[in-house]
Amino acid sequence: MIRVALLGATGSIGSAALDLAGAYRDRIRIVSLAARSNDAALTRAADGLGVRRIALVDAEAARRARDRWKNGEVLEGESALTALAEDGEADVVINAVVGSIGLKPTVSALSRGKRVALANKESVVLAGELLTAVAKRSGGMMIPVDSEHSGVFQCLAGRPVSDVRRVTLTASGGPFLRRDPRTTLDSTPEEVLKHPTWSMGERITVDCATLVNKGFEVIEARWLFDLPPDRVDVVIHPQSIVHALVEFVDGSIVAQLSVPDMRLPLLFALSYPERWTSELPRLGVADLATLTFEPPDPDRCPGLALARRALTAGGTAPAVLNAADEEAVRLFLDRKIRFGDLMPLVEEVLTAHRPEGPLTLESILEADRWARGRLHEAAAHMTRG
Ligand code: NDP
Ligand code: MG
Repeated sequence: MIRVALLGATGSIGSAALDLAGAYRDRIRIVSLAARSNDAALTRAADGLGVRRIALVDAEAARRARDRWKNGEVLEGESALTALAEDGEADVVINAVVGSIGLKPTVSALSRGKRVALANKESVVLAGELLTAVAKRSGGMMIPVDSEHSGVFQCLAGRPVSDVRRVTLTASGGPFLRRDPRTTLDSTPEEVLKHPTWSMGERITVDCATLVNKGFEVIEARWLFDLPPDRVDVVIHPQSIVHALVEFVDGSIVAQLSVPDMRLPLLFALSYPERWTSELPRLGVADLATLTFEPPDPDRCPGLALARRALTAGGTAPAVLNAADEEAVRLFLDRKIRFGDLMPLVEEVLTAHRPEGPLTLESILEADRWARGRLHEAAAHMTRG
């Protein structure tokens, strides 16, 4: 029986995790749940699985939950995420919150030597180098939930990176794959949020349309698998069936395939090194007849180039990229900026960034704060001008 703290329980990955917990009651016991402000969904999930400890980052939501929910303890504030991640009751932390707020709980869980089933890719984008060092010291482990990285992890099957010639991550290409980029500048949130193959939270769905999500994934692969960036490739594969391909030094390529359903990588992150029998949707060999692969067109993938630039700059640049993007996506969803403004604004912030001093958790979070402020300045300037 594994005992799990689930952070981000009310989101898209969170609900996939709840679904697995319901299906594997004899193997998975959820001991705590956290979200930002959706107290109703969180207490419902807690009651469904008999969970007695919940956390809401938003204080008002925590107060509502305490007034209404008498079946256990309600923690509040950002520190509650860390408290649940550290808690000795849980052996595994599923980190499925969105945004850089996920970083501290990842650090806490790893430093206690726990397994982190890591959906919160921002943790690795911000602090991949620090996290791998913490994990090495403490014996903790990050198992990727991001489908492409779960694919790489499964293909590698423990082989050292010296055996690997190249890793290829697939990208669906997002909703605008076949559109002339000049015609998408004024696309609405509704259009952007229609992802062709995956159903996900809003931020990552917008990030798929700019391809910055795939850029984050290149950074994620660099740190999770200790790969030089020039050995991480991206290929457009609109069907999202092949998630990753690993070419070994002898020329053999191993790929991981499955239907696009996040419960599968999540299940593997929990069951590893075992494999548990599942009733998840299966792929038939006939489904492979129409798979296609093509190189990304740089004009349609501005986010990919920006992420490579941040990775080359190193230090706090990836944290700046992430924070600027997080704010820009919020402004776009609130209809304050156009879709076509997203990447230029993020690029402006990345260009203005001057990395300083040694890389620490504090310098990363400081860069994150700076980038958010700078992005809002740039956006205000743009809308005024
Ligand atoms: P969602 O937007 O669907 O869910 C986000 C979750 O995080 C919710 O539970 C939300 O709580 C919580 N949350 C948001 N902001 C905060 C905050 N400030 N403090 C605490 N909790 C917060 O996101 P997804 O499930 O799509 O994505 C989660 C993570 O997984 C992201 O990092 C994403 O990049 C990654 N990922 C997702 C994939 C997917 O298929 N969805 C695929 C690969 C990676 P509330 O409901 O109360 O706001
Ligand atoms: Mg992914």
